[in-house]
Amino acid sequence: MKNSRPSIMRPHGIPDSVSTPVATPLSPSVVYASAHPDELDAQYEGKLQGYTYSREGHPNADVVAKRLDAMEGATGGVVVGSGMAAVSCVLMGLLQSGDHVIGADQLYGRSLRLMKEDLPRLGISTSLANPSDIDAVRAAIRPETKLVLVEVVSNPTLAVADITGLAQLCHEKGILLAVDNTFTTPRAFKPFEHGADIVIHSVTKLLAGHSDVMLGYVVAKDPALNDRMRVFSVTTGMTPSPFDCWLAERGLLSFDLRYDRAEATAKDLADHLATLPGIKRVIYPTREDHPDQARALALLGGRGCNMVSFELNGGREAANAFARAAEGLNFAPTLGDVGTTLSHPASSSHRALSADNRAALGLHEGFFRVSVGLEEPELLRRIFADAVSAAT
Ligand SMILES: *Cc1c(COP(=O)(O)O)cnc(C)c1O
Repeated sequence: MKNSRPSIMRPHGIPDSVSTPVATPLSPSVVYASAHPDELDAQYEGKLQGYTYSREGHPNADVVAKRLDAMEGATGGVVVGSGMAAVSCVLMGLLQSGDHVIGADQLYGRSLRLMKEDLPRLGISTSLANPSDIDAVRAAIRPETKLVLVEVVSNPTLAVADITGLAQLCHEKGILLAVDNTFTTPRAFKPFEHGADIVIHSVTKLLAGHSDVMLGYVVAKDPALNDRMRVFSVTTGMTPSPFDCWLAERGLLSFDLRYDRAEATAKDLADHLATLPGIKRVIYPTREDHPDQARALALLGGRGCNMVSFELNGGREAANAFARAAEGLNFAPTLGDVGTTLSHPASSSHRALSADNRAALGLHEGFFRVSVGLEEPELLRRIFADAVSAAT
């Protein structure tokens, strides 16, 4: 990087060096000085590459966006301060009053809230439909429907959306298909290869992977949509901090290895859990007993995910005993961390639902969702076997 122009307050630029750093430099500067107004004009007009004010863009955001673009086979993606900021860029940056949007009925909790509370307040009407049931989605379409938002694998019941069918339907009707690829990641699924128009990520989860940074990413196939989302994110102040981008980039360097390891361990753990006497059922998308197995195999091309859900025999008491006995595993509402984490939908993500509504989704008190991390598979098998037997 060239030395910055010395100023009276900042007399010392970065020392010149003929060698280059192997790690991406962190650039926390909020402002960038230009030489004179003509140069600034040229920057704004895109004739010269340069930064002005970090809310408008900064080197660390661009570096991480380029890496994510490459992973999704895309160009021009936008990096924002969280996964929810990315979802908001799509729903609020692209839609307008009078539009209608269809969401999957088991979206991430805050995405659901945006659909149910905030979009209607802004004059955008919404419907929810089961994304594994094309006829249900077709029935929800109205003349003013502009966009369908789905996740590939649902949380926490790990149902697999019919992305191929949805892409066909959306294209036939001229509707945008936005896919939140957080659970499956580009390692297991590339939405653009299956007809999606927009891809969303909570980079916070598996991509960054260490539970120390919040970040989101969104990219559309159509560069005009990327421009609109970029402008919306800058205007509404969704720009992430350079340090968070820097940390996320560091996480991305080991992402493939982490995903492969966690995915293999998750498959192993699911099969192991199914052999334990205290377990009522195990949910893993590519297992034979999963109702969407055929679709999971076709869509994910033999890949899986790092998420496993299961149901213990017994109610809240068994759940408490299990969480207490699961030594060394964090009982925490996140996923994709290097360490295995447990979540209990009835007391956390789905606590706002009535017991009847939870039961309809199969989310009984004994239901846990596991985000498998990088521990030794053998150690995890032992911890789960001990905790299940302590609980049941
Ligand atoms: C966590 C999550 C989000 C939101 O991401 P944040 O980074 O927490 O804002 C959106 N979609 C899915 C599927 C998620 O798991």
